[in-house]
Amino acid sequence: MFGVNVMQLLWKKLAKEKTVRLKETLDVSGLLKGRTDVKGFGELEADLQAELTSGVAEVTGQLTLDVQMVCARCLGPVHERLAVPFREVFTEREDLLPEKEREDAHIVTEDAVDLKPFVEEAVWLALPNIPLCKEDCKGLCPVCGTNRNETDCACKQERIDPRLAGLADFFKDSD
Ligand SMILES: [Zn+2]
Ligand SMILES: [Zn+2]
Repeated sequence: MFGVNVMQLLWKKLAKEKTVRLKETLDVSGLLKGRTDVKGFGELEADLQAELTSGVAEVTGQLTLDVQMVCARCLGPVHERLAVPFREVFTEREDLLPEKEREDAHIVTEDAVDLKPFVEEAVWLALPNIPLCKEDCKGLCPVCGTNRNETDCACKQERIDPRLAGLADFFKDSD
């Protein structure tokens, strides 16, 4: 079963209760379907708490998501359980905030504040840019394509730092 599509912080409810727990299972297929590097994913578990103090709501908590990606070096599967910390600040009146916090705060204009876009943004930023199956993945041989985590091939591995390649040419020419 897939999770819900909205995650609402109800401002009037929060104003009355001061603290509101928001625990939701969200469907993030809309967010991730365009990511070709994401091969599979589960539902997003959002466990957040909103606290209202002097007209300013701080929403904090954790987002958890299982993702399957492809190793950037060996193209093998990468399973990751992302645990993403979440923090956003909301207020009806910007002037209630200290100057330095104003830029990051979101202004509330309706009773129902949809948290989903903020949750999705946090998850998006937490997805690894260069997923690796393990820290020291040896990758595929650029010559024969063998997965060097499994087998050592006999190919000659010439590793020239691209920054030094020009220098190598220079010495060659001066001979
Ligand atoms: Zn790998
Ligand atoms: Zn090889």
